[in-house]
Amino acid sequence: MDMLNDPALMAFRDEVRAFLEVNLPDGIRRAAARATSVFIDPAISLPWQRILHEKGWAAPDWPAEHGGPGWGEIERYIFAAECARAGAPNLAPMGLKMVAPVIMHYGSPDQRAHYLPRILSGDDYWCQGFSEPGAGSDLAALQLRAVPDGDDYILNGSKIWTTHAHFANRMFALVRTSTEGKPQAGISFLLLDMETPGITVEPIRTLAGDHEFNQVFFDDVRVPQANRLGGENEGWSVAKHLLTFERGGKYAPGLIGRLEQLRRRSDPDPVLRAALDREAVTLRALQALELKAMRGVGGSPALYASALKILGTEAAQRIDTLACEALGHAAWAEADGQAPAELAVAVPRYLNDRAATIYAGSNEIQRDLIARTMLG
Ligand SMILES: Cc1cc2nc3c(=O)[nH]c(=O)nc-3n(C[C@H](O)[C@H](O)[C@H](O)COP(=O)(O)OP(=O)(O)OC[C@H]3O[C@@H](n4cnc5c(N)ncnc54)[C@H](O)[C@@H]3O)c2cc1C
Repeated sequence: MDMLNDPALMAFRDEVRAFLEVNLPDGIRRAAARATSVFIDPAISLPWQRILHEKGWAAPDWPAEHGGPGWGEIERYIFAAECARAGAPNLAPMGLKMVAPVIMHYGSPDQRAHYLPRILSGDDYWCQGFSEPGAGSDLAALQLRAVPDGDDYILNGSKIWTTHAHFANRMFALVRTSTEGKPQAGISFLLLDMETPGITVEPIRTLAGDHEFNQVFFDDVRVPQANRLGGENEGWSVAKHLLTFERGGKYAPGLIGRLEQLRRRSDPDPVLRAALDREAVTLRALQALELKAMRGVGGSPALYASALKILGTEAAQRIDTLACEALGHAAWAEADGQAPAELAVAVPRYLNDRAATIYAGSNEIQRDLIARTMLG
């Protein structure tokens, strides 16, 4: 954040930095450094969320009325940059960043009062039930049926690629409540309890060997209609609202932290060093664009969200490649053949990050959205 020279912002940065120095436990920081995915195991992320919650900093993006710290955009960015610099783990986005804003926007007073405090404290851990075996990029093709029965819906079908469903006690899901008219017009948005009878979670292993996502089966699952967010058959608008939060974001702080760690290494292969320097410049440009998006300078939030998703995830994959190259150089140099600690996760991260250009809407789809918005 060397572009900021406002004394009040620098004082804020120092306050955050000092808090992190004292309150981020070493064990959590070390576990986060060993993580191979952006989706951090809740055994690591939830204890950190609770420490932040006690300070009132668990949800930097939330308005103060719902328990956020009441920061402006730049303070939030500084906070993210300082957390990345200190090596703090990412908090799970499904509750805090994805479903919470739509509960604030579309939820009834009862739904807000029930769910928001439990998301903030980490008492509820959420997963996202959007994709299905026949509905990914073409999400509106989803088929999981929700048929009204008294005050409930009865659900049958399945969701796939459901990140952390094996940890979650809640799911937000898109379900089909009508087959009439356009596919988008027959979708509703439900909040589910994962303990409900009839829900089965089956693991899917990733290319890197991790158990990160799942297929979730619904067999006559009874869900109260009161758990619907927004009107019946109006779930598509809720989903579109949510996807802006899923895609938008602050990629640069974490990536700059990772790249700086690689640049601090001493093996001075000139070709690798030049590539690292070039990437550092690209990341500064990404950071400038993220700050511009935050200030709302030119362009719609959805357009920025798509552009930043492409630029951030592709930069992450380039850094993964550079980390593997650095690992290769280090392997030659180390007499005992042991990879240096900071490079030990280079290959699993490289493999895991192949998914980054697919999830949250593939980068091809984001390019398509930008083209359609810009070119009409
Ligand atoms: C690690 C990971 C975690 C995920 N977590 C979740 C989760 O928690 N919850 C959830 O609901 N989903 C999750 N997903 C699913 C994710 O949202 C989908 O994988 C994504 O939307 C793509 O859908 P698909 O896999 O069915 O691929 P498809 O839609 O079949 O696409 C296959 C390929 O074709 C391309 N393509 C498709 N349509 C077009 C088009 N019109 N123009 C150009 N190219 C096109 C795509 O870009 C892609 O390269 C996750 C995925 C991954 C990889």
